[in-house]
Amino acid sequence: MHATTRQMQAKKHIALVAHDNCKSHLQRWVSEHKSKLENHTLYATGTTGHLLAKQTGLPIHCLLSGPMGGDQQLGALICEGKIDMMIFFWDPLNAVPHDPDVKALLRIAAVWNIPVATNRASANFMIASTMMEETVSIEIPDYEAYLAERLT
Ligand code: PGA
Repeated sequence: MHATTRQMQAKKHIALVAHDNCKSHLQRWVSEHKSKLENHTLYATGTTGHLLAKQTGLPIHCLLSGPMGGDQQLGALICEGKIDMMIFFWDPLNAVPHDPDVKALLRIAAVWNIPVATNRASANFMIASTMMEETVSIEIPDYEAYLAERLT
């Protein structure tokens, strides 16, 4: 498929997700980077979001809980270009019941070319980037062009 571009604004829409065994790690990371994160718009799956909001006081748009459909809601927002990046501390050591949803979320994030951090080190690199405070252009699939070709 051909590519087109979309602009991410300087104020990013950031999704935060952590599996149960990783929630404390994400809470610590968000607390450490609160001063940067409060310049952006935050989204999270239900339990992650409510815990983070309570602990940090940051305003967070909470979706449904991940296993109840929150991962799929997040995936839909990514498809619609409404999420610019995702911090997703998924659990590499334990199985989760909604593994298909997790795979789908990671897949759709790759399709729409958004930055994804899956652990503290990658999240630290991401938040330290000068691009966090800039307008950034990213490549995305050009479905309109694909459809136009198919319809001729
Ligand atoms: P939760 O979902 O924040 O509601 O626990 C996380 C997940 O997607 O596994």
